Amino acid sequence: MARDRSVSSTSRRSFLSLSAAASAAVALRIVTEPMLARAAKHKLTHEGVMIDAKENPLGPCAAARDAVVAIAPQGGRYSDWLTDDLVKQIAQAEGLKPEYVRVYPGSSEPLHHSVAAFASPQRSYVTADPGYEAGMHAAEAVKARVVKVPLAKDYAHEVRAMLAAAPDAGVFYVCTPNNPTGTLTGHSDIELLVEKKPKGSIVLVDEAYIHFSEGTSVVDLVRADKDVLLLRTFSKIYGMAGLRCGAIFGRPDLLDKVENYGGWNAMPITALVAASASLKDTQLVPERKRINGAIRSSVFAWLDRNGYSFVPSQSNCFMLDTKRSAKEVIDAMASQNVHIGRIWPVWPTYARITVGTAQEMEQFQAALKKVMTGAVTSSVGPDRRDGKLRLDGLVIHTYECGSARSVLNSAAGGSPTGQPPGRRRYTV
Ligand code: PLP
Repeated sequence: MARDRSVSSTSRRSFLSLSAAASAAVALRIVTEPMLARAAKHKLTHEGVMIDAKENPLGPCAAARDAVVAIAPQGGRYSDWLTDDLVKQIAQAEGLKPEYVRVYPGSSEPLHHSVAAFASPQRSYVTADPGYEAGMHAAEAVKARVVKVPLAKDYAHEVRAMLAAAPDAGVFYVCTPNNPTGTLTGHSDIELLVEKKPKGSIVLVDEAYIHFSEGTSVVDLVRADKDVLLLRTFSKIYGMAGLRCGAIFGRPDLLDKVENYGGWNAMPITALVAASASLKDTQLVPERKRINGAIRSSVFAWLDRNGYSFVPSQSNCFMLDTKRSAKEVIDAMASQNVHIGRIWPVWPTYARITVGTAQEMEQFQAALKKVMTGAVTSSVGPDRRDGKLRLDGLVIHTYECGSARSVLNSAAGGSPTGQPPGRRRYTV
């Protein structure tokens, strides 16, 4: 294990230089996809068909699994040089200098920290609607105005409307392919956003699902030193959601500001070696993209044949138009052990469906047919005492259309109510 330990990032050397703004933001709570996906469920389960949280049923590739097993005996060490090795590997693959790349245990942390670093009570957070909600929670935590702009007719981000809606913007969040619609926003639209945005703001591009799609990455804008922060994760096509590895790319001065909000923590070495092995598997991305695309097309063909409406997607999820309260459909599906995803208040008749395995999607189709033809209904709803949703003791507040009400407790207002860890209860 005699490795060169002298390679260390600037942030690790300068970890004591925490800014005043950063120290004020330490209460930032990280909101994740599994929290959001399972927030409104009346019963938590891991059994049945789990197509609610955009997980990849294939899991880590064989080389990643082997690497995890092989590194396990060294789990007593922090092994921070493995972080540097992965940073260099990613940087080389993306044509970036290593100082433009930082890795984290998943991309949720850099997403929240980017918002906290560049949004504020004076600088708003601008996002698409429907869009991935996590950044809105971070914006609320730092008391930034949340501006939600409806997607365009083709379900891309309406970048001109986003610019017009917030001359005071600090962060424009663009998720492409978008969660939940799986639709792309073109490179030229993002370039336009970068060109026209207010001074001092950033464009935060989330490419969590880019590998499933035909989309063009904006990594070239990072290379060109633009005010762009780019998020990637190993949770999706690489199937490592439970192993936890993600990355953020950007100019080092931008990354330093992001890191002020979360500091630098050691990475799980299992995640590092699994990510590294996954990147070396050159067949992984094309093969999994093909598998996901084939299953998705087959489901879309079935939906078409049966007269159901959906938003065509380029990702591992899509929005199904249930033509009635989507909540009723979600509950009825759950009663058949098929767990589909959540609703966005702006589209109350749509439910998000993750593309699972071919077999899972057959079960989905069979269950959906029963539910849509009225053969199965569900009277069981989520626990809504006091009009609030609850998840295992966690009180959930839902966003209202067009405003920035909190879903989950944020640093802005919530308070723990003294329950043991793991069953914490927060109220807003
Ligand atoms: N960004 C988007 C759009 C997501 O959907 C998710 C998770 O589903 C994340 C980021 C964060 O994923 P992770 O923290 O697992 O990397």
